Amino acid sequence: MHTERIAADMERILGAQGVISEHEQLRTYECDGLMNYRVIPSLVVMPESGGQVQEILKLLYDEGIPWVARGSGTGLSGGALPVAEGVLIVLSRMRHILEVDLENQRVVVEPGVINLWVSQEVAGDGYYYAPDPASQIVSSIGGNLAENSGGVHCLKYGFTTNHVMGAEVVLADGSVVNLGGGKAPDAPGPDLLGAFVGSEGTLGIATRITLRVLTKPESVRTLLAAFDGTEDAGGAVSGIIGDGIVPAAIEMMDALCIEAVEKAVHPGFPDAGAVLIVELDGPEAEVESQFERTMKICEENSGTVRVAEDDEERALFWKGRKAAFAAMGRISNDYYVQDGVVPRTELPATLHEISELGKQYGMRVANVFHAGDGNLHPLVLYDNEVEGEAERAEDLAGEIVFACLRHGGSLTGEHGIGQDKKKYMPKMFTTEDMDTMQLLRCAFDPHGLCNPGKVFPTPRLCGERPGPFQMHEVQKAGMAENF
Ligand SMILES: Cc1cc2nc3c(=O)[nH]c(=O)nc-3n(C[C@H](O)[C@H](O)[C@H](O)COP(=O)(O)OP(=O)(O)OC[C@H]3O[C@@H](n4cnc5c(N)ncnc54)[C@H](O)[C@@H]3O)c2cc1C
Repeated sequence: MHTERIAADMERILGAQGVISEHEQLRTYECDGLMNYRVIPSLVVMPESGGQVQEILKLLYDEGIPWVARGSGTGLSGGALPVAEGVLIVLSRMRHILEVDLENQRVVVEPGVINLWVSQEVAGDGYYYAPDPASQIVSSIGGNLAENSGGVHCLKYGFTTNHVMGAEVVLADGSVVNLGGGKAPDAPGPDLLGAFVGSEGTLGIATRITLRVLTKPESVRTLLAAFDGTEDAGGAVSGIIGDGIVPAAIEMMDALCIEAVEKAVHPGFPDAGAVLIVELDGPEAEVESQFERTMKICEENSGTVRVAEDDEERALFWKGRKAAFAAMGRISNDYYVQDGVVPRTELPATLHEISELGKQYGMRVANVFHAGDGNLHPLVLYDNEVEGEAERAEDLAGEIVFACLRHGGSLTGEHGIGQDKKKYMPKMFTTEDMDTMQLLRCAFDPHGLCNPGKVFPTPRLCGERPGPFQMHEVQKAGMAENF
């Protein structure tokens, strides 16, 4: 890449403020929330409008230069890891809320808008935006859309994909398409918006996103239940769901996690083998009756229940939960966040297996997770200063993913595949599965310029296949020209 020439072209589009080419400044962008992988990009550009994104992509397309989109860089699977001979397109200057249309329950935003800002914008009118990753005070809507982010309230309300109504997307060649619906809830034809959500920046850049906002529930009640261990807590989770109650959230934290959180943010969690935070919301009468039953089920599973008396105490419970990853620094020099999902009924067996794996590797594993969804976040604790520990932590984290697969789960619950887990894709998908996914990717990005090297194991990129060339079935059928 002719960096100086491209930087000069970019400055013409964005002004000097929108281009970073100094080596020391480029280092700021060498990784996202997954710090094990680092690559310094050749250039960073920071557009302020969809029109500028279009011009940037047209230029890169003509030059054949690969690029990676970046929102807030909080991704935990290395999705926004730059390409060395490529451009990093940082969208954090596109941070306007463009339209609030409560009559149609929708808000239109630019991709760099922070998740929490959406709820803050509409809170005064009694609305909120439901998907709430623990990173909601810093992660962007563009990044949430690309990762199909989850959060504590996704058990009842669904993931990002259930709340994105439409998106304007700039494709690799700089053309613009509108996916999904506008004011109407659905659009005819194949669900290309559904395909775009969760595509981890490999299909194009979302420049304008329409989100569904919900009316705030009449009543919210939250409890904290302490148990001797994760097994009793798991029993309570099964009991609550089995009773026909769908809480807004059920989160579990084990003893190691409680210890770390207490040291970091002092939420006043009890000294226990595990705690559950259970939140119910909805019409007051329904919440009251279900809350009584929820408390009883926790107690029947040997839990000790504490009810949040007011919004302040409720916020404290959630502060403890949402600080869990960051709090690990209080009990370990380094940690590796894993993300997998299993059917909820498989939680106890999977947790047992994770604990056995930890013993086998001689490493501590803390657990904090969305128990209602079966979405696990085992945190493998290690010390980077000890030779070989980082590698062993990564191996153990890999074993944990395989355990999730054995229990009928998936490689990722909500953090994506990115750079981190692409090597595991063949453990879950057949070659045919992956070819079909690649075909979709090639349809959007025939030259492989959008976030190359992510999600799929290399060297299986578009048009690249080890061994002699073989025509794909879809190509034989005349439905694709280039695979
Ligand atoms: C402390 C902490 C807690 C977290 N908790 C959760 C959680 O509870 N649930 C959860 O799901 N995740 C969680 N995450 C992970 C992370 O916050 C999410 O994946 C988030 O959606 C990433 O958003 P971002 O703006 O930081 O995106 P980035 O990290 O910048 O990018 C993520 C991916 O999105 C692509 N991308 C970014 N913007 C666009 C765009 N406009 N168009 C197309 N592609 C784009 C990038 O290329 C990359 O592949 C957590 C992370 C941290 C650090």
